[in-house]
Amino acid sequence: MSFYNICAQYDEECLKEQLASKTETDVKHTLAQEQISPEGFLTLLSPAAVPFIEDMAQKAHKLTLQHFGRTITLFTPLYLANYCTNRCVYCGFNTKNKIYRSQLSYEQVESEAKVIASTGMKNILILTGDARAKSSPEYIKACVEILNKYFPSVSIEIYAMTEQEYASLAESGVDGMTMFQETYNEKLYPVLHPSGPKHDYRFRLDAPERSCKAGMRVVNIGALLGLDEWRHDAFKTGLHAHYLQSKYPGVDIAVSLPRMRTHVGHFEQTCVVSDTEMVQNLLALRIFMPRAGITISTREKAEFRNNIMHLGVTKMSAGVSTEVGGHAKAEDDSDKSAQFDISDTRSLTEMCEAISSQGYQPVFKDWEPIFGTL
Ligand code: SF4
Repeated sequence: MSFYNICAQYDEECLKEQLASKTETDVKHTLAQEQISPEGFLTLLSPAAVPFIEDMAQKAHKLTLQHFGRTITLFTPLYLANYCTNRCVYCGFNTKNKIYRSQLSYEQVESEAKVIASTGMKNILILTGDARAKSSPEYIKACVEILNKYFPSVSIEIYAMTEQEYASLAESGVDGMTMFQETYNEKLYPVLHPSGPKHDYRFRLDAPERSCKAGMRVVNIGALLGLDEWRHDAFKTGLHAHYLQSKYPGVDIAVSLPRMRTHVGHFEQTCVVSDTEMVQNLLALRIFMPRAGITISTREKAEFRNNIMHLGVTKMSAGVSTEVGGHAKAEDDSDKSAQFDISDTRSLTEMCEAISSQGYQPVFKDWEPIFGTL
């Protein structure tokens, strides 16, 4: 059985009714539990839980201290290419958008690596658009080999692959993968992804599980909040993470909470997620999944990121450029082809200072392979 069968049990209408039926008593009962069920998770995501945000914050803070201490792990993304064959209606790299397209040569990858490594960063996340012919598994593998000389941890956020392809990348030094389902709403999904390989909902949904089987150390999932009713996607993301953590206890399962950002192109989001709702989502997830990593990216403003550091976040990006080759490029050379606009533009040093000033420790590397040389 795959997560698909579990996900399919919750259709949108039934979720809507269940969320609306939750009461204050349900929330109090859930908060009194040591471990909560998927039903309890839904309760904490419901409108009835909004007046209990403070109680949820205290519980989430305690659980995060217990499992992670006062630490925030830092990483930065590196865009290898922005060629894409998909038409995700909410994305600046959409194949229909007339933006400057490029791909880093191996020499450019090395230059970017040197610039990023000189800041002290140890975790790198490589991204490409979804264009196999351009960013082939072989190209990605060759880039990973270059990056492994500079970074102990190299993760991927690329198109969905087969288990064999993930295994081959894991062997060449990739230790983590991120895969956003974008929305778990199976009816809405093809509308938002009208053509291209990403149109295949099921192949994407099962990708995190294939990468668990293929030996990835960290598997990070998420939905793009704002594409559908956020409570539905937040619930199914949590269920997905719970499924993976229970089935693959040797893999670190993590969740990212990205909100829609402005980008090249025009997309009217159907659900605007407020700061309070983002916090509710974060707290409910932490209480449901005490051991899961939770990432908040630079899509969020600096002030917001500072404020939520105590509430369950374990990982943040810093020193971010969403342009291909944006780290080594002079600011004047920007080709305005970024995937989306970032809100927190702080450098790695500034981020470390912000984390320390909150009484937390910035972490660059928190693991060591039992075998291997890094
Ligand atoms: S979200 Fe990813 S797959 Fe979709 S258009 Fe953007 S880069 Fe391509």
